[in-house]
Amino acid sequence: MKIKLWGIRGSLPTPLTPLQVYNRVFDLLDKYDKARETSKLTPADFLKSLPEHETFGYGGHTSCVEVFDANTRLIIDGGSGIRLLGNEIMMESTSLGRAQIHILMTHFHWDHLIGLPFFTPIFLPGNEIHFYGVQDNLEENIRRVFTKPNFPMAFEQLPSKIIFHKLAPRTPVKFGKFSVTPYKLDHPDPCWGYRFEHSNKVFSHCVDSECTRVSREQMGPDLPLYQNVDLMTFDAQYSFMEASERINWGHSSGPTGIDIAMREKVKQVLFIHHDPASSDAKISRAEQQTRIYYESVLESASNQGLAHGLRWCFAHEGMVLQP
Ligand SMILES: [Zn+2]
Ligand SMILES: [Zn+2]
Repeated sequence: MKIKLWGIRGSLPTPLTPLQVYNRVFDLLDKYDKARETSKLTPADFLKSLPEHETFGYGGHTSCVEVFDANTRLIIDGGSGIRLLGNEIMMESTSLGRAQIHILMTHFHWDHLIGLPFFTPIFLPGNEIHFYGVQDNLEENIRRVFTKPNFPMAFEQLPSKIIFHKLAPRTPVKFGKFSVTPYKLDHPDPCWGYRFEHSNKVFSHCVDSECTRVSREQMGPDLPLYQNVDLMTFDAQYSFMEASERINWGHSSGPTGIDIAMREKVKQVLFIHHDPASSDAKISRAEQQTRIYYESVLESASNQGLAHGLRWCFAHEGMVLQP
């Protein structure tokens, strides 16, 4: 199984402004100028030597994650990131007009829906688009996206075949070699995470969540979402300070994810759902604060013989990983 992050921003698509692009180019040229005083770096080598957030940035598209193997493609949510994924699907000549596309919905906040009207495969006759969700109003919520005057084509006019599947909470469903189980997160309206199992590897998608239930007892029947996990995506919309001030806003921070990952021995964590109000520099600062927190926790865990070599980062759009 592989995971590709097509949208990592929370709440609202967040493109760089022209001034931000200008400032980034200016800073890079200035740094390159200074670096050339002491070495003969090529521009490409210079860019490679920098942290990715200073060159690529974290990305601006909202929630969309692809989970796939050679035969099966599963998509989590239809945020603005799904538009580019749709373009990639359209480039695969084998699936033109014959694609079977499976979209697992976590919930129906705008940042998880907003890309669906721009997901080109939905407009191709012959394609089958399957939507899955735990919520009773799954169909109603997807239909509403394609409603005049918010979108010029009504749901009934969509050329592809659209099929809705209601999932039972905490009950696995099979897709090829994947077994996928929904677990409840701590988020308004509400939101469901997904645990993917494939060839003895586990990926858990834990976004959007405030993680108001922290202890194993509080997590209760939803604890398996975090157990025996190789790779986890986790909601780090806020810095730790912001999260402590924004109670009931539905989002979490890096240190909370570190605590859960350390306790449950998750092998790797990708922090996503970055706040639209956060610049790349601010997200990087939140990552540094999380690093300081992690190192303090790691020291006491090591002293007790409980450290397990956790890997983690604040993830950027376009990352592809194998759990
Ligand atoms: Zn969201
Ligand atoms: Zn949400």
